Amino acid sequence: MAQTFKSLPAVPDHAALEREILAWWDAQSSFDRLREQNRGGERWSFIDGPITANNPMGVHHAWGRTLKDVFQRYKALRGFDQRYQNGFDCQGLWVEVEVEKSLGLNSKRDIEAYGLAEFAARCKERVAEYAEVITEQSKRLGMWMDWDNDYHTFSDTNISYIWGFLKAVHERGWLYTGHRATEWCPRCGTSISQHELFAGEYKELEHPSLYVRLPLKERPGESLVVWTTTPWTLPANVAAAVKPDAEYGLRDGQWRLAVDGEEYDHVARGEELVGLEYMGPFDDAPAQEGIVHRVIPWDDVVLDEGTGIVHIAPGAGQEDFDLSRVHGLQVLVPIDESGVMLPGFGPAEGLSTDEAADVLIEDLRRRELLVDSGVITHRYPTCWRCGTPLVFRVVDDWFIACDDIRQPMLDANATVQWTPDYYSKRMDDWLRNMGDWNISRKRYFGLPLPFYPCDCGQLNVIGSRAELEERATAGLDGLQELHRPWIDEVTISCSSCGNDVRRIPEVGDAWLDAGIVPFSSLGWNNPEWIEHGYATGAASGLSGADLPDHEYWEHWFPADWISEMREQIRLWFYSMSFMSMTLVGRSPYKAVLTYEKLLDEHGREMHRSWGNAIAADEALDEMGADVMRWLYSEANPGQNIKFGYGPAREVKRRLLTLWNSVKFFVDYANVSEGGDVGELEPLDRWLLARVEQLVAETTDAYERFWTPDVVAAFESFVDDLSNWYIRRSRRRFWDGDAAALETLRTALLRSLVVIAPVMPFLAEHLWQVLRPAEAPESIFLARWPEPGELDEQLLAEVGETRQVVDLGRQARAGAQLGLRQPLRRLVVQGAPLAERHADEIAEELRVKVVEFGDIEATELHVKPNLPVLGPKLGRELGAVRAALESGDFEEVDGGFRAAGRDLSADEVLVERVGKEGWAVAHADGITVALDTALDPELELEKRVLDLIHELNAKRKDAGLELTDRIVVTLPQAASDLLAHEDWIKDEVLAVEIRTDGGSAEPTIAKA
Ligand SMILES: [Zn+2]
Ligand SMILES: [Zn+2]
Repeated sequence: MAQTFKSLPAVPDHAALEREILAWWDAQSSFDRLREQNRGGERWSFIDGPITANNPMGVHHAWGRTLKDVFQRYKALRGFDQRYQNGFDCQGLWVEVEVEKSLGLNSKRDIEAYGLAEFAARCKERVAEYAEVITEQSKRLGMWMDWDNDYHTFSDTNISYIWGFLKAVHERGWLYTGHRATEWCPRCGTSISQHELFAGEYKELEHPSLYVRLPLKERPGESLVVWTTTPWTLPANVAAAVKPDAEYGLRDGQWRLAVDGEEYDHVARGEELVGLEYMGPFDDAPAQEGIVHRVIPWDDVVLDEGTGIVHIAPGAGQEDFDLSRVHGLQVLVPIDESGVMLPGFGPAEGLSTDEAADVLIEDLRRRELLVDSGVITHRYPTCWRCGTPLVFRVVDDWFIACDDIRQPMLDANATVQWTPDYYSKRMDDWLRNMGDWNISRKRYFGLPLPFYPCDCGQLNVIGSRAELEERATAGLDGLQELHRPWIDEVTISCSSCGNDVRRIPEVGDAWLDAGIVPFSSLGWNNPEWIEHGYATGAASGLSGADLPDHEYWEHWFPADWISEMREQIRLWFYSMSFMSMTLVGRSPYKAVLTYEKLLDEHGREMHRSWGNAIAADEALDEMGADVMRWLYSEANPGQNIKFGYGPAREVKRRLLTLWNSVKFFVDYANVSEGGDVGELEPLDRWLLARVEQLVAETTDAYERFWTPDVVAAFESFVDDLSNWYIRRSRRRFWDGDAAALETLRTALLRSLVVIAPVMPFLAEHLWQVLRPAEAPESIFLARWPEPGELDEQLLAEVGETRQVVDLGRQARAGAQLGLRQPLRRLVVQGAPLAERHADEIAEELRVKVVEFGDIEATELHVKPNLPVLGPKLGRELGAVRAALESGDFEEVDGGFRAAGRDLSADEVLVERVGKEGWAVAHADGITVALDTALDPELELEKRVLDLIHELNAKRKDAGLELTDRIVVTLPQAASDLLAHEDWIKDEVLAVEIRTDGGSAEPTIAKA
């Protein structure tokens, strides 16, 4: 082999090597060349789910971004033409919350005092800053994307497309305002939609728990007792609910649910209490004026907590609100949007819901209405953005009715291929249960909802920026982007009466922003391609993305594949499908890969405050991108991943086998004199077949979007390559055998291509080392290998041979006979395919003879499987057990017969034990038995092997080159080993072996 290969250090420095490759890809324009090579090829459409440009990328983001890159690289190797547009999510509550934190703003009032224009500018700056940070991190991770052509969800183009969707929704009659009870974040000052509620955490919180007496008006001395954990809702009380068919008892003047076995002054069914009037807990509060408090019936009263009598405040609870509809109750909303008690609601007005508790409790106590009070710890929902405990408020929000779209979305989901497949059902469950989509948020830096309600009753919905410009009557001049405060200055003329109308102040749910991407970024319905036309409004200057034309959309829609974490079922996967089914009646994606959560290596959630969080930059530096990608790729996406430095070290250790194999090749190829490859040996043909098998297995796994099988197939291949092919061919490499060298190199090159999508840096680096001059410079230009013919027979033979050898090693280990102790005989049963490889087995296991046939060297030990046989045999068990123990049984039809009973295979425990003088191992139907007897000849050979081992270690310690010859000096006591002089010389490259009476141990010197 004339070529000289760059030699490798003992271990790779992943981070340094990766930086080199990044620079080399840049210099070579490798990614551009790849895209050029695939241009016009078959389409494979990937649409990126936007990452929020709000903070640096986390290691959990890196998981998803790795999977995206793995499959885009795989498809690129297969020649598919692809889009590589990255997306950034840029507006909405989570951006606002971070900006508020950085500016030290604590409420909506603070934001308004700061000024909406300035606030919008800060939001945009934050997005720009972190978009850049994430871009750099993603490049470092190895993500090949069309950077600087990203889509940004706050571009006017994106917003205009959402307006089009909202207009379509309105035209179908699905848009409505709802006076509704909703979960509300008092800090963010906005309602929390159903999907946001699920995204939030339930925290264990302490709340007051109080029992309050409500005197019955017409029954002096009698009161209802209610229980509540939210004292701030009491001033909004309008009714008390009882379960009509439950029994209530009166004792000491107090009505509660009757408990079996207790004595009461009087017992009544709930329905008998219905209609009674009572005094409210805060009747003096102005808000309570004119309220008549009554007992109402409610079948759903919970009986296992509280008193069985439920305090009803329709302005502060979901079910309460629903009951108000049924019973015509008044709805009193006691708190404002920051969770502060409103004027007119009693002694705690002006206080937060938390602060109000003590004041209200004290007031109830003073008026002798408090029966009891304490503290309860319970699970309570919190805001998914800021962690603040949520409250209930009744507010006016905008909704999209979903009943008409539900079934079409279910039908569309049935066409989607989910990985793992059971997530399809999760999506179905979500769709079946989804409530109407609450799309309005009472916030600032978000999608401005294009709703212009007119006093004449007309709701004007603007469908695009162009339509806004057409219908505007004022404010257009100052409209620098479609955001507040500028958009709020634009008035339009009502389509019905022609009067000027203002926009509602609300902004939209951020999932509208991401859901429209398959339309806005692909140029749906856009007549002409506009260069940089996507980068409008807040996005201008941040992205050079074009607005393509409709033809482009037709080519790239729907996506062939998308991938995000499982949470996105009720978020992005849902909103995209909702919008697409509404606009074009087709699913926007054909296949989805979704994955679970990232935990630390001990299985705990990562939290900065727990000290177990790992920053992505740190991981990239310490582990290297390839190792991270390996961890993500080997994980089953259906399970939480345990991520950390421990698992990373383990991966590095495993990758070393590949590294060492390449290094082995380089070291021997560089000292070989080359020559004709000539005829291949069976082992060479086996390795080449084995690599074809790897290609077939990994192709299949990639096609199923299942990276764990890619990694497993590759690791098993590298094990075969290193621990069988190289081991078995050592001698040939020492001799510079051209066939062995060329076979090894071919196998390595082919295997590198199939693992390159998972581990792009190391694969590229090793490709550079090994590639023939005529091969493509970058591994990513090499194209996917088509699997060749598989020699199944040969693969099966060697597979079985390796199993026999593994069992032989186990048997040796069991008998505590090291591999350097030669043995006489091995008997193999149940491995007919290995028979042709008896010589290899003998060499590997260092036995003189390998025989195939029945093994008589074992004894069968059979015991009753007690949990099965005990109940079945009862008293007969004793006799059977005794018969089995004494060996008084026979084998029949895969089972046994003992003491007159037939025992099936699962009723007994069978063990094969070596007879005296034999070591036995057994697995998968193969049994091997090793004759463990030693004799002087075997013992002498063992000492020779020990010596060879020792001398080779000394060669290594002395830093000798592979080709250096040596002179060996043995102590006199070892002179009997000279019976094997030639053997020793051969193994240690010695030109001479002397004996020397003086030395205590062998020494070597360079010849
Ligand atoms: Zn919040
Ligand atoms: Zn009007």
